[in-house]
Amino acid sequence: KPTSAAPAAGTEPPKKLPKGVVLGKDGKPCRSCTSFASWASQTKASLKNDPASRNMAEECPPDIETLGRGSWNLLHSIAAQYPENPTRTDQNNVRDFMRLFATLYPCWVCGEGFAKYQSRKPMPTQSRNAFGTWLCDAHNEVNRRLGKPEFDCSKWEERWRTGWKD
Ligand code: FAD
Repeated sequence: KPTSAAPAAGTEPPKKLPKGVVLGKDGKPCRSCTSFASWASQTKASLKNDPASRNMAEECPPDIETLGRGSWNLLHSIAAQYPENPTRTDQNNVRDFMRLFATLYPCWVCGEGFAKYQSRKPMPTQSRNAFGTWLCDAHNEVNRRLGKPEFDCSKWEERWRTGWKD
């Protein structure tokens, strides 16, 4: 999980920041940078004891995990629909989209991590497989950071485009 960040100049963070709560650039706790469990620990809600708070998790703004899951669904699905032989316009569009996606991503620490990956490993746009594999590597980089298992990138199209071979 990302660690808490320094607040923007001139703003005061809360005195005691519960574990896992990440600050936004405005110095206030950033909801989309924090898991619901950590968020709940700084409010009166408790996931274990309060059924209403469980319902809140579904009905409230997305936490870092819900947002991430939905975003990876979108990104890998874009790769799955990307042409095998893209035009120059297709290539420019997807490059612009990925750059802006990282800039606008609501969890700023996640977006910055993705932007750094794009600078370090320029995105190949010449084919669906090159782009999809690059994206799979980006996702694996986050998986490693979070201690999650790596995904076998030779199987990205089965997971996201064709369905699993039996
Ligand atoms: P997810 O990681 O969301 O994966 C969804 C599904 O994708 C999996 O069930 C699996 O079937 C498939 N999958 C898994 N790995 C791959 C892969 N390599 N290639 C293709 N398919 C795969 N969270 C943080 O706590 N810190 C961060 O810095 C952070 N950065 C992020 C950056 C970006 C750009 C995005 C989109 C999300 C980021 N997240 C971050 C969220 C995090 O990656 C997860 O989405 C979140 O923790 C929920 O994880 P999950 O286990 O439900 O599965």
